[in-house]
Amino acid sequence: MKSIRLCALATCAALAVPATGQDASSIWNGLQQPAFSADKSASVSQLALVRDRIRITLADGIIQFTNPVNGIVFGATFRGRGRVQVEPPNALEAQQLRLLSKQDTLDMEFSEAVFVFLDDTFAEVSRQVQFVPNPGALSSELYITREKEREEASEPLLPRLFKGILSYAHRRTSLFAADLKTNEKGWIHVRLDALDREEITVGRWSKSLGRTVFDNWMSFPADGRSPGEAYREPLAKEDFVLRSYHIEASVTEAEELRATSRLALQHRAGGERVLLFYLDPHLRVDSVRLFSGAAGDTPGDTLPYFQARDPEGRAQSYGRYVAVVLPGPTHAGDAQTLAFRYAGKHVIRKVGNGNFFCQSYGWYPARPNSFATRADFAMTFRSPKKYTLVATGNKTNETLDGEWSVTTWESGVPLAVAGFAFGDFQLQTEKAGSIAIQVYANRNPDEVMQGLQWRRYRVESTTDYYGNRREDRCGDGPCGESTRSPVFISRLPVGTLSPAVMAKSIAAEMANTLGVFEKYFGPYPYKTLAVTNIPYFYGQGWPGLIYLSGISFLDPTQRNNLRLPLNEELTEAFRAHESSHQWWGHRVGWKSYHDQWLSEGFAQFSGNLYVHLRENMKGYLTRVREDKQKLMLKDEHGRVYESLGPVWMGIRLSSSESPAGYSVVVYRKGGYILHMLRMMLYDPSNAQNPEAPFQGMMKEFCETYNNKPASTEEFKAIVEKYMTPAMDLDGNHRMDWFFGQYVYGTGIPQYEFRYQISAAGNQWKVVGTLSQRGVPDGWKDILPIYVHTSGRTILLGWTRATQKENKVEFSLPERPERISLNDYEDILAELKQ
Ligand SMILES: [Zn+2]
Repeated sequence: MKSIRLCALATCAALAVPATGQDASSIWNGLQQPAFSADKSASVSQLALVRDRIRITLADGIIQFTNPVNGIVFGATFRGRGRVQVEPPNALEAQQLRLLSKQDTLDMEFSEAVFVFLDDTFAEVSRQVQFVPNPGALSSELYITREKEREEASEPLLPRLFKGILSYAHRRTSLFAADLKTNEKGWIHVRLDALDREEITVGRWSKSLGRTVFDNWMSFPADGRSPGEAYREPLAKEDFVLRSYHIEASVTEAEELRATSRLALQHRAGGERVLLFYLDPHLRVDSVRLFSGAAGDTPGDTLPYFQARDPEGRAQSYGRYVAVVLPGPTHAGDAQTLAFRYAGKHVIRKVGNGNFFCQSYGWYPARPNSFATRADFAMTFRSPKKYTLVATGNKTNETLDGEWSVTTWESGVPLAVAGFAFGDFQLQTEKAGSIAIQVYANRNPDEVMQGLQWRRYRVESTTDYYGNRREDRCGDGPCGESTRSPVFISRLPVGTLSPAVMAKSIAAEMANTLGVFEKYFGPYPYKTLAVTNIPYFYGQGWPGLIYLSGISFLDPTQRNNLRLPLNEELTEAFRAHESSHQWWGHRVGWKSYHDQWLSEGFAQFSGNLYVHLRENMKGYLTRVREDKQKLMLKDEHGRVYESLGPVWMGIRLSSSESPAGYSVVVYRKGGYILHMLRMMLYDPSNAQNPEAPFQGMMKEFCETYNNKPASTEEFKAIVEKYMTPAMDLDGNHRMDWFFGQYVYGTGIPQYEFRYQISAAGNQWKVVGTLSQRGVPDGWKDILPIYVHTSGRTILLGWTRATQKENKVEFSLPERPERISLNDYEDILAELKQ
C-alpha cells in the first residue's frame, strides 16, 4: 500500500497517551465536531492525491484542514474543481462499476470534498501549498453534515477514525476516505481502509425501499492482490479472536433483555487501544469492565466506551457499534476478558398471547463477520417460569427461583453465533438416530397469523425482507429466508390457528431432514436440534436451533383456507433449507461474502434435495426449474437477474437498483451450481448407490472444513478430487472452465439439438448437431444424452459442447424411440430439441 504513515512505536507513543474516560471523551468529541484550523487553509492547483488505484486531482480550489486531535490532523474539506479516477482492477469489478455507474473507468468531476484520513495526506498537501488564514466554520459544517449523513445510513466513520487515532499501529490502521460531490451521481464515496480485507471501496449511498443503502461500485484488495489472497486467512486483519462467551441474561414478559456478557478474547494485534464490537443499539450499555488473570476473573478497570445512538424505533439505526477504550495498548497473544453490562427493549418483542420474537442477532457483543470464526458459549437465562426458554447448545441445568426459571446452556463445540427463544410453548420431541429433535411450538397464534386470519394482511414479497425490520438481517449470516409470496387476503374463517397442532409432524419432518442430510453431507454436528416458530415470513437456522416462520406450521387445509401458496416454498423445501444450515453455515462456515453461496446456495439445493427424497424426482425438478425461471426474470430495470453478476459477488448483487439481486442469484444459482455437480457425478454403473460420488464429495467437504470457514477455491479443490473424466473438458483435471463460467461468471447458454437415426448393419446410428448460442465464444459445457426406449430412459453418457456447432455421433444396438439432452436440467441452459 502506498502513502501510509511510517511510524515506529517509540516515535508515535506520545500521540496515543493514556486516555482516561475524560481524555477519551474529549478525543471522541474532537473527532465528532472537529474544529477547522484558521491557519491551515490554502489554494490548490492540480494537486494529485494518489492512493493505490484511486487518483483524486484537486484542479483548482481551496482546501482546509482540521485542528489536530491527539496530535493528528485527520480531516480536510475542499471546494472548487476536482476530478476522481479509479480504474477497475479486473473484469468483474468493471462489470459492477458499469452496472451501477454506467462508466467503464470511474472518471467524474466534483465540486466539494470531505477527506478523513489517518495517513500522510496532511504532510503531503502541506509540502505543496502555501497556507493562508481562513475562518473554519464553513468547513466544519460541511464535515459534520457528511458524517451525519453516514450516521443516518447506519455507517458512521467516527468509531473507525477514533480507533485509528488512538492506535499505536498506524500502518495497520491507516485510512483514507474521500466523500466527493460529483455532478453526475451526487456524493460518492472512495475509501482505502487498511483494516478492510478488500481495502479499496468505491460507491455511493442511495435510497431504496425507504432506506439508505450503499451501492458498492467496486471493492478490491490494494497492491494488486487477488481477493483469494486477501481472504486466505479470514482473521488476518482482526485485532483479536473471541475465544469464549459467558452470558448471563434475563428476559421478561415486558419485552426487556438485561445481560452481562463476558467475552474472553485473545489479541492478535499489538498497539491497539480501541476495540470495536457489534451490538444492537436498542440495547444500551451500562458498563464495560476489564477482567484479567488466567481465568479472566480478577476484576479490573471500568473502561470508557462509546456506543451508537439509540435509534428509538427508527427503521434504520445510526450504526451498531460499541467502541471500547483499553487502559493501555494491546500485546499480540495476550488474553483479556471484557464484561459488557447492557439492557434494553426491542430485541425481544411480544407478538401475541405467549408469543415472543427474540432477535437472533445483535443481542450480545460480537464481531461483524462471526461466521468466519467460532467461540464457546456458556449461557444462563432467567425467564418467566410460566414460559419455556430454549437456546443454542445443550441445556445443562434448570432450576426455579421464585417466579423465574433459570436455565444454563453450554455450546459443547465452538459456535459462530448463539440465540434463544421463549414463549408459551408446547414441546414435542422426536428422535433422529441419537439426535433429540425438540419442537417448541406456541400454543397460540402470533399476531401475524392472527392478522392473516382476521384482517387484510400483506405478505411481504421482497426477498430482502427480514422480519419486521430489514435491519434484522445479519449482514453475512445464514438468515432471512423470505418466503417470497405476495398475497392479499380479507377476513378468512379458518378455525383455530395454533402452531402446536403441527408440532408432531414438524418434529417428524425435521428428523427426516437430518436423515437425508446425514446421508448426503455427513454427521449432524450437534447433539440436539431445537425448532421453534417465529412470526413473519422467514426462517433462520442457528446452530442446533432453528427459527421457522409460523406459516410453515400451518397444515395444508389451513394454508389453503388462508389462500397461501401450497407449494414446498413455504413448507418442506423451506424447513429443509433451514435445517441444512446446520451443515452450510455452521458445520462449514464461509471466509468472505464472496463465499456465502456455499451457505445459501447449498441450503437452497438442500431444500430441493429434500423434496426429491421426500417426494420424487418430479417434485425436485419442479423446484430446480423454478430456480432457473426466477434467474431468468427481469428486475425493475429490465435486466435479467442472472446477468447482474456472478454468485461470487455475494451480497453486492443487491443494490438500490436491484434489491433482490442477492437472494435471486446467490440462492437460486448457487443452488443450481450444486445441482449441476450432482448430476455430473451421478454414476449409473453403481446400481446400489449412483449418488455415491456426489455424497462422497460433499462429505469430504464437510469433514475437511468441519467447524471452519471455507472458500470457493477450497470447495473447487474438493470437486476436482471427485470430477469424472467427462468433466475434464480441458484435459488438465481442473474445473476452471465450470467455476469460471458458473461461479465467477454469468451467462445461460441456449442449445439446439437436431439428430437423425439410420440403420447401420445390425446397429442404429445417431448423427446429430448440438448448436450453442447466447454465450461468448469459448464457452464450454458437457451435456448428458438420454436414450428413450421401451418406456425406459437411459443415461448414455455426456457429450461436449465446446464450439458453436458440435457434432454428436454414436451407435445403439436397438432403435430408440427418441434421444434427448438435459432431461434432468443437468446443465443450466435453455434447450430446444
Ligand atoms: Zn438460508
